Amino acid sequence: MNETVYDLMIVGTGPAGLSAALYGQRWGLSTVVAGDTPGGSTYMIENLVNYPGFLGGISGTEFGVKAFQHAQQEGALFTYSRLDRLEILDSRFTGIDLNGQVIHAGSALVATGQVPKRLSVPNAQVKGVHFCAICDGPLYRGKDAVLAVIGSDNAAGQHAMALSRIAKRVYLIYRSPALKMDAVHRKRIESQPNIQILSQREVRSFEGLDLIEGLVIADDKGNETRLAVNGVFLAIGWRPNTEMLKLPVETTVEGYLKTDETLMTSLPGLFAAGDVRDTDLRQVLTACADGARAAKHAAGYLEKMKSTRK
Ligand SMILES: Cc1cc2nc3c(=O)[nH]c(=O)nc-3n(C[C@H](O)[C@H](O)[C@H](O)COP(=O)(O)OP(=O)(O)OC[C@H]3O[C@@H](n4cnc5c(N)ncnc54)[C@H](O)[C@@H]3O)c2cc1C
Repeated sequence: MNETVYDLMIVGTGPAGLSAALYGQRWGLSTVVAGDTPGGSTYMIENLVNYPGFLGGISGTEFGVKAFQHAQQEGALFTYSRLDRLEILDSRFTGIDLNGQVIHAGSALVATGQVPKRLSVPNAQVKGVHFCAICDGPLYRGKDAVLAVIGSDNAAGQHAMALSRIAKRVYLIYRSPALKMDAVHRKRIESQPNIQILSQREVRSFEGLDLIEGLVIADDKGNETRLAVNGVFLAIGWRPNTEMLKLPVETTVEGYLKTDETLMTSLPGLFAAGDVRDTDLRQVLTACADGARAAKHAAGYLEKMKSTRK
């Protein structure tokens, strides 16, 4: 990059970042987008549901790639590289990417999503523990595998369904008394004969020397059982992806970025959109809506800054 000062710097190429890029261009902002995964987390979605217009769903990868092409066609500039840090230098938002390129902008949007939590149990580093069924599930195809999904939300449901078409058996293991996924996912899971639901079970340890061979789980009374498995897929929750943010902003206890009604964080000119934001629904649709609104309000912020300088 050079000394150009863009109007809007977007960090993240998921639904929130791409929608913001599209709307940013439409609002006449010069828009630059940092990130290396076109479509963000949508590549993990085998069948993206709950998005109006796609009855029966659409492949997450297809959706993500199309959203990326759409933002590109609108003229947003993509760096194809992740930001190492975002800070303020000389009163401008300054991003430094992993290649050492420096980007300056008058406003910035954090749309970096979330990262899956790891399980902290003995032997947690053993091989065969995954986070994405669409990416790593095919490793088990044709192997008569027995797999475990740990978690109870929609993501866990999607993992279990995808894996049930590859594996001989899938255990869905979670601590709570009931599944936390929506009714459509729950019905599918419950009617899939090779998915075995194990509720109120806590994973105590992973077994295996190099490769995972089994799990020790305990029921709500503390009775332990060993399950032989060939692979494990974790969906036990998320944490916000904000490591690159080197700016003082207000967050929730878990680290999600707090925003006002214009999606601006506690730092003027810095906006947040999508899953990284303190919000009550984390879906593609809401991420897109956040991105669109954040870009509009970034335009309003820049306009206001310009008029106060006059
Ligand atoms: C298995 C699974 C199934 C799902 N199914 C559905 C579904 O059917 N319907 C639905 O509506 N939602 C679904 N979701 C949720 C949906 O994927 C998210 O709500 C949505 O992707 C959030 O968009 P986002 O842009 O906020 O974040 P993300 O899509 O996570 O994108 C954020 C991007 O920012 C990147 N990033 C992070 N740090 C940096 C950095 N320093 N520099 C540059 N880039 C960075 C990340 O790598 C990522 O690519 C599912 C999620 C999962 C995991």
